[in-house]
Amino acid sequence: MTLPKKHLFELPQGVIYLDGNSLGPLPAQAANRVRDVVTRQWGGELIRAWNTAGWMALPQKVGDRLGRLIGAPAGSVATGDTLSIKVYQALDAALKMRPGRRVILSDNGNFPTDLYMAGGLIRTIGGEHELRTPAPEDVEAAIGEDVAVVMLTQVDYRTGRLHDMAAITEAAHKAGAVMIWDLAHSAGALPIDIAASNAEFAVGCTYKYLNGGPGAPAFIYARPDIVQSIEPALAGWLGHDNPFAMELAYRPAMSTERLRVGTPPIVQLALLEAALDVWEGVDMADIRTASLELSNLFIAEVEARCPQLTLASPRDGSRRGSQVSFRFEHGYAAMQALIDHGVIGDFRAPDIMRFGFTPLYLDREDIVKAAGIIEEVLGGELWRDPKYQVKSRVT
Ligand SMILES: *Cc1c(COP(=O)(O)O)cnc(C)c1O
Repeated sequence: MTLPKKHLFELPQGVIYLDGNSLGPLPAQAANRVRDVVTRQWGGELIRAWNTAGWMALPQKVGDRLGRLIGAPAGSVATGDTLSIKVYQALDAALKMRPGRRVILSDNGNFPTDLYMAGGLIRTIGGEHELRTPAPEDVEAAIGEDVAVVMLTQVDYRTGRLHDMAAITEAAHKAGAVMIWDLAHSAGALPIDIAASNAEFAVGCTYKYLNGGPGAPAFIYARPDIVQSIEPALAGWLGHDNPFAMELAYRPAMSTERLRVGTPPIVQLALLEAALDVWEGVDMADIRTASLELSNLFIAEVEARCPQLTLASPRDGSRRGSQVSFRFEHGYAAMQALIDHGVIGDFRAPDIMRFGFTPLYLDREDIVKAAGIIEEVLGGELWRDPKYQVKSRVT
C-alpha cells in the first residue's frame, strides 16, 4: 500500500532517504510555520506572544497530539528538553516509587545515553543502586524481586529488534517493578498503546520518525494515576503549580506539567506542530502494514543482490521495528559510497549499515531502486575509494 503523503515533504531530487529513523525529513509546511512564529509572533508580538500566540500552552497542545500516536490520553504527555533529560526524570521518579529496591534493569542493546543517564543518576543519588544490562533476549528472565525499575528501549537502535511491550510490562509489574519504555524508535514507526500496556512511564524523541527537525523537543508520558505522586528531580519553575506566583518554595503542578522544567523551545515546538500536521488522519496500523511491506521487500531485494551483506535484524517482521540493518566489515565506507550515490542510510559501530522505512514518503519503487544502487556499490566495490574511508564526526 502507498500512503499519499510524499508531497507533504520536501525531499531533495535524486535522493532515496532511508534515514528517517535517525532524522526525519523536512515537512513542506515547516518553513512557513517557522517564518510566522519568528516574524509575526516573536517579531510583532514580542513578549505578548506568550499569551496572545498561545506559546505557554504550546508544550501541552503538542503533547496531546503526540499522545494520539502512542495511545496516551490527553494531558498525559509533557514535551520539552531532550530525550536524555526525560530518561533521567522518569528513572529518578521510578526509583523514588520503590525506595527499598536497588536495581535498574535495562539491556546491553540499549542506546548508550539511556545507560549513561542511569549511571549518572546512580552516582548522584549516592551510588548504592546498580545498573544491570543483560542481553535483550535475557531481560524478561532477569526481572527479579530486587528490581526497582525496568527501563527498555522498545526497538533496538542497531538491529531493529522489537521487545514485547505487553509481556515485559506485565512481568515487571508481577515482580513489583516500575516500567519505563523508551519509544525513540517506536513513535511514528508502529502502533503503540501505552495506556493499555499499563507502563508507568514512556519517553521518546520527535526528530526521528515524527520528523520534528534537529533538536526537536522530547516527550514524557506518566500514567495518570501516578502523576500526583511524582517528585520531580528537575524541579524547574515551569513545572510549578503556578509559575508566575513566583513562590519561594517549589510546589509541583497537579498534572503531567510537573515534568516540564524550563522555558519551552517555541520555534522547535512550532516545527514539531507542522510535522504533526502530516500525521493527521494517519492510522498507525496502516503505517505498520506499509512499513513491513517495504522492509520485507528491501530484505528480499538486498539479499538476492548482495551476498556480501549479512542480515542483522530479525527476519520475522513481527519482531522488528521499522528499520533493517545489515552487517558488513567495511560498513562505514560502504555507507559513505551509498550516500554519494543517492541512497542515504547510516552506520552504527562496529559494522552495522542501517536503513529506516518510513511509508509516509517511501514507496516500493524507491526500495527497488535503492537495492539496485546498493548492488552497484557493493558488487563494484565502489566503497574502496579512499575518499569513503575518512570518518566524520557523525556516522
Ligand atoms: C535517539 C535516541 C536518544 C537520543 O537522546 P537525545 O537526548 O535526544 O540526544 C536516546 N535514547 C534512544 C533510545 C534513542 O534512540
